Amino acid sequence: MSSSLFRRLVAAAIALLVVTLVSLNYALSPVDPGIRAHVLEITVVAALAAAAVALLVSRTLTARVRRLKRAAEGLLGPEAQPGVLTDPGDDLGSLERSLVGVGQELRGLVSNLRFESARREAILTGMAEGVLAVDPELKVTFCNQALLSATGFRGRYEGVGLLQVVRDPALYELIRSVRASGEPGKLRFHLFANIPRTFEAQATPLAMPSGRGVITIFHDITDLERLEQVRKDFVANVSHELRTPLAGIIGYSDTLLDGALDDTENRRKFVEIIRANAVRLGSIAADLLVLSELESGADQETELVSVRAVLEDGLLTVEAEARDRGVRLIREEMQDLHVAGSRLRLEQAFLNLLANAIKFNRPDGEVRVRITLEDGRVAVRVADTGVGIPSQDLPRIFERFYRVDKARSRQVGGTGLGLSIVRHVIERMNGTVTVESQVGKGTTFQVLLPSVGRASGPQPTSTLAAQ
Ligand code: ADP
Repeated sequence: MSSSLFRRLVAAAIALLVVTLVSLNYALSPVDPGIRAHVLEITVVAALAAAAVALLVSRTLTARVRRLKRAAEGLLGPEAQPGVLTDPGDDLGSLERSLVGVGQELRGLVSNLRFESARREAILTGMAEGVLAVDPELKVTFCNQALLSATGFRGRYEGVGLLQVVRDPALYELIRSVRASGEPGKLRFHLFANIPRTFEAQATPLAMPSGRGVITIFHDITDLERLEQVRKDFVANVSHELRTPLAGIIGYSDTLLDGALDDTENRRKFVEIIRANAVRLGSIAADLLVLSELESGADQETELVSVRAVLEDGLLTVEAEARDRGVRLIREEMQDLHVAGSRLRLEQAFLNLLANAIKFNRPDGEVRVRITLEDGRVAVRVADTGVGIPSQDLPRIFERFYRVDKARSRQVGGTGLGLSIVRHVIERMNGTVTVESQVGKGTTFQVLLPSVGRASGPQPTSTLAAQ
């Protein structure tokens, strides 16, 4: 109870007492003065006793109301204790009981809300996607770690202008229009803060107490975009690679049909060109098929393979061509080591390396091969004395269709897919392939593969012991 109310009650009681005494005095005027004084005395004492009782009751009530007020104010505070209130059976007691009940419910609700908001914050903070929320003034209210790292923004972001955190006018425009229209929107844009990356931003209106804000999710699509580009380039490259031999076949067929069939001197040459182009088409198709099988993982069989036997088979296959080109094949150390994988694929990889070492060699050149054990791994080296590869081309030679000298590669029947196949085969056997080269001096390819103990037979490569 407030003290002003208490003062008013006291004033009213005094006024009532004065009026009562005056009325009594007037009413008792005919009575004997001794008796009148006695009655008035009794009245004053009774009034004072009543006032004392009223004061006591009002003090108690004041204390209870104050406690109720404090309890109501502290309902959501961390130290609010249920059940601290007294519980008499009067109306105030029933109000106290309701307050205790409401307090418990409110605390439950608030703790649920706190848990839910902490959970959401943890999810948003830990998300791989960037998340950014802005208020109706386009001031940032939330920005998760993923987006902060991508933008390179440091320091407190709350209340900072959108453009200061993500410096992209197109994104600003998107978020501004989503806030104005209430319609979600999408945008693909680049961020150059740390490493250049491409994002797809999805902005959605967000109802806030102060009006309409916007929440934006940023998907990092850099890898996806690169893959898209690789796929487009690949399709373009395949079309281009097929077009050249096809043009040759069509061109020379037309020449023959247009009368060259009677040209006894040249017709055989034309047919040979048509055949060479058809063979080239066949080689491209075969290599593409191998690559697609390797990538799809269709070719899964694993066997214990003798690296020496496979390399010897490869050397035997290319022997005639090496002789024709005047290139000597030299076997250096040929240890008998074993690996786990597909024998057929490994032979194909070695054949590609050997064929290149011969094709890109010089007359009277050499190809040296050796098999050794290096740090528990089987190392196969194919070194030639050929034209070499310029250092700027080295990082790209394992790419599909990449050729240093296109004309020379075509002339020697290359498809540009050989090294790509080598890398796929070796990597699928948990190995690596590296290259070193010096222009005009020669090139060395080195393949490293996990070694497998011969007696143990085929096993999963991850559990194989080194020899
Ligand atoms: P290709 O069918 O043209 O040989 P590859 O994928 O096998 O395709 O090789 C890609 C390119 O790498 C070749 O065109 C050639 O320019 C270069 N290259 C590969 N091996 C050698 C080598 N031993 N010496 C010189 N250049 C090589």
